[in-house]
Amino acid sequence: MQKGFLNSKKARKALKKAESSTEVTGSSASALANEAALPDEVIETNEVVKRAGIITTIPPKGPQTCQMITIPAVKDFILKHLSVLASSRTVSTVKYAVQDTADMGKGLFATSAISFAETFLLEKPLIVFPKNMGPAFSISRPGHSASSDIWTTVCLDESEKMLERVVERMSKEDREEFEALCDDSMADPGKRPLLSRMLCNTLNLDIIEPRGVSFGEGYVGVPRIGARMNHSCSGANVVFDFDPETFTLSYTATRDIKAGDELFLSYVDATVTVAQRREGMLAQRFTCACSACTNATPKTDKLRLEFRARTDLLARVCMEPGPQPPIQTQAWLATTLRMKSEMEKEGLDNEPHFLQVWYALQIMYGRLRDVEKEEMCKRKVEGFLRFPGAIKERKRGPPGSRRM
Ligand SMILES: [Zn+2]
Repeated sequence: MQKGFLNSKKARKALKKAESSTEVTGSSASALANEAALPDEVIETNEVVKRAGIITTIPPKGPQTCQMITIPAVKDFILKHLSVLASSRTVSTVKYAVQDTADMGKGLFATSAISFAETFLLEKPLIVFPKNMGPAFSISRPGHSASSDIWTTVCLDESEKMLERVVERMSKEDREEFEALCDDSMADPGKRPLLSRMLCNTLNLDIIEPRGVSFGEGYVGVPRIGARMNHSCSGANVVFDFDPETFTLSYTATRDIKAGDELFLSYVDATVTVAQRREGMLAQRFTCACSACTNATPKTDKLRLEFRARTDLLARVCMEPGPQPPIQTQAWLATTLRMKSEMEKEGLDNEPHFLQVWYALQIMYGRLRDVEKEEMCKRKVEGFLRFPGAIKERKRGPPGSRRM
């Protein structure tokens, strides 16, 4: 926890301003007027939480609700911007099932075909938790006199206690869903089973806090179904996005998926080296044995590190106005196809940013009057733009100018 920051004059002033300016109105207010909704539970001030945090339910009612640990100012801000109507959107056909895998415990499998760019699952997280509530979430302890071992134990024990209170607030169904998730505590018997289950099943969530207010260094969430998807750096076929306005996680296919295929997410940033990916995986207590990790070389590390810059440059070059001689376009096309093939081999075609490659190809085939291939690339670009995460990016500018 950034105690120094939260206790600073600047932060207190910002917090006060945000608290006074957050007023729940309209549909959010009617959602709050629900007698059955649980009241917030104040987390007592202790070694870990130096200011009153709360456990609250977001949205306060609905078919799926989430237990969130935060501070009142953040809760009010979320409710003010929550679109209650949109947040109840669901996907009617269930196209997945949890099954045993050969070597990774349980996994999520497609039970019928899922098309490229199809959003096949929407869900509220079960729990949302600040990343830095304990050392396990990279807590910092400026000025604290206890040894790091004692501090670690205190933080972990406090986090476990808070999670017990979170689980108590859940509906019976939600508790059963949470308890059925993968639990790494089997390797660490008797020690903080709830925290252990959290650590095995979290995804980073893009939660927006009021300006000048921060409860920590961002939040993680425990998905219901999404937590069943195993990780692969090279074979991921699904991307997830969290929409703070609906408090909903959505999962979209990045490839055509056949019935029977396993669904994979990439839990870590795919555009870093294998060593950096392994470091990220340590926090979630797993190692990846996908082909990209097993066969990683300095060349593949470089390709991943340069992926965004290279695809951005490609799209920018293609957008340059003026007539391009066909021989020049053909040379670019050959280079682009070579680059595309290298990236596909690494599984980088799963990344939303791969849109830039399809966009550049669409322009090049258009210039070469290859209508069929131009149309095919256009369909790919349109598919990538339907990814929920890409919609936010689209608002920021045309493809060549944005960072995805
Ligand atoms: Zn891997």
